[in-house]
Amino acid sequence: MPELPEVEFAAKRLRDAVAGRVIASLEPLHPSQEKHLPETARQAAVGLTIDLVERRAKIQLVHLHDGAILEVHFRMTGDWEFTRVGQDPPRYERVRLETADGVRVSLVDSRAFSVVRLHAPGAFVLPAIGPEPLTDAFTVEGFRIALARRRGPIKPVLLDQKLVAGVGNIYASEALWEARIHPATAANSLSRERVARLRDAIRHVLETAPTERYYGRDDVNENDIWRVYGRNGEPCRRCGTPLKRLPQAGRSTFYCSRCQRR
Ligand SMILES: [Zn+2]
Repeated sequence: MPELPEVEFAAKRLRDAVAGRVIASLEPLHPSQEKHLPETARQAAVGLTIDLVERRAKIQLVHLHDGAILEVHFRMTGDWEFTRVGQDPPRYERVRLETADGVRVSLVDSRAFSVVRLHAPGAFVLPAIGPEPLTDAFTVEGFRIALARRRGPIKPVLLDQKLVAGVGNIYASEALWEARIHPATAANSLSRERVARLRDAIRHVLETAPTERYYGRDDVNENDIWRVYGRNGEPCRRCGTPLKRLPQAGRSTFYCSRCQRR
């Protein structure tokens, strides 16, 4: 599943490909997309300039010149592919956007869970999401106050986008290992010092993330990349203890039982 660093990278690729260009057509190519891109909305987008592309949490927002917004969620397996109009289309193309000067942007998604939705000017409302972790808005004090209200174990709490935007399952495990905090620790029991360490760890794992690719690619050995994620039974990189897997709220958490403390 694409996490924040990949979505940031995807938004940058999209921005580089289409910002300043004019939309010539916008088409859903799969039944999963038709209800989000009705004919009237698509027609309204034709002829508009793409002003900018931004990312909030794991949502990409494409701002059109009249104030309309294309909201894009990659979900499990979405990604962009860029070709020229007239070239062979890529596999698993779900939505196609073409610009007046011949750039073709395809949302490709083998599992078709992605969503592209067009909002009329003024109609888009950003869901309630917390601060972006790589900005100054993500403060230790703000994080501490938010965690103090949560009784649940810290790992699932980190996945709540209202707490901090864009931390997914992989980076939650990675950050907790980095901060030496056990994933089952009650969120509201963390000392200020540990909250500060966790905040720094979240920033560190996101800043050092391998953004140039998606996870799960065949030619990349995940074991070489992650601190703990997917490394059940492998030695901890800090202390050598075999790592463990813990199911939490339906998701797998990976951790070291020796150097991550409650
Ligand atoms: Zn360890």
